Amino acid sequence: MSLSEFELIQQFFANSGTPRADVRLGVGDDCAILAVPTGKELVVSIDTLVEGVHFFKGTDPALLGHKALAVNLSDLAAMGAKPAWVTLALTLPSVDKDWLTAFCRGFSQLATAHGVQLIGGDTTKGPLNISIQAHGFVEAGAALRRDGAQLGDLIYVTGTLGDAGLALQGAGSMDIPVVAQSRLDCPTPRLTEGQALVGLANAAIDISDGLLSDLGHICDASGVGATLYIDDLPCSQPVRDYIKKNDDWSLPLSAGDDYELCITVPPEKQVEVRQLAMSFECGLTQIGRIEAASGIRCLLANGRQLQPCFSGYEHFSTES
Ligand code: ADP
Ligand code: MG
Repeated sequence: MSLSEFELIQQFFANSGTPRADVRLGVGDDCAILAVPTGKELVVSIDTLVEGVHFFKGTDPALLGHKALAVNLSDLAAMGAKPAWVTLALTLPSVDKDWLTAFCRGFSQLATAHGVQLIGGDTTKGPLNISIQAHGFVEAGAALRRDGAQLGDLIYVTGTLGDAGLALQGAGSMDIPVVAQSRLDCPTPRLTEGQALVGLANAAIDISDGLLSDLGHICDASGVGATLYIDDLPCSQPVRDYIKKNDDWSLPLSAGDDYELCITVPPEKQVEVRQLAMSFECGLTQIGRIEAASGIRCLLANGRQLQPCFSGYEHFSTES
């Protein structure tokens, strides 16, 4: 490792996030040494953001630092886990101190907000690529999973759907609603909501690829199907306006990048969940029901069934 690499790591990555007592050894050695609390299970996830695929060239580095961490914390939220540690593998085309300073600010702010410590990583030269591995804890056996949905479960989502998709669709234009742009650039991982739903939800997933696609994963993993009541989908005013103008439900149904949680709840827990949801700043909306018949049916309030001809984002969908 050259001196400049050492200095780079010391300056930008040695003290990022919240210092934690369970980190016996953090950045600096060949490995980090970590103490997993007794009775807890370690929940681990990794996500990569590639320039030109997940974000546009020239994206504000502070927003990128936030988003790269947020999408990983969102996976922990979907499991009901409390985040603790992250590693960061960063591939950079060059050492741009201003870029790194801003990136680390965005990253560190979110890490600190959730009591997370950066405990190691790797720094290499190449096309801009950000890979983050997040580690969190759940009580043993208590994690929310995709394969737990049961017949008759009610389906809920946090927040609103389609905002990030609206911003993505209008990329480059000047009239993107601020609310939509900030949802795309600066998603909020629903960590408190996910943790609060442990013991109440039968299944959960975070919506990164679109509701139909991600709820589809719950259905496939659980061996069930679902009906969605489309008019009940929670949408911001700009997304509502878009749907009305274009008679097109694709934003809330299949646009990704919102990072809301989709959960299924047994009917006997409905009252408790509604009570809990009053403390959710982002809200929680019932949007459908788990059924035996496979597939997802989209029902409009007038009883008509929508035939969505769109699916979620697929990286390799155009390859043969
Ligand atoms: P090695 O060659 O043994 O893999 P490195 O030179 O890659 O070690 O890294 C030295 C130390 O700096 C390690 O503890 C590593 O985890 C940490 N590190 C390197 N890059 C990053 C980064 N981007 N973020 C956080 N820690 C990093
Ligand atoms: Mg290394």
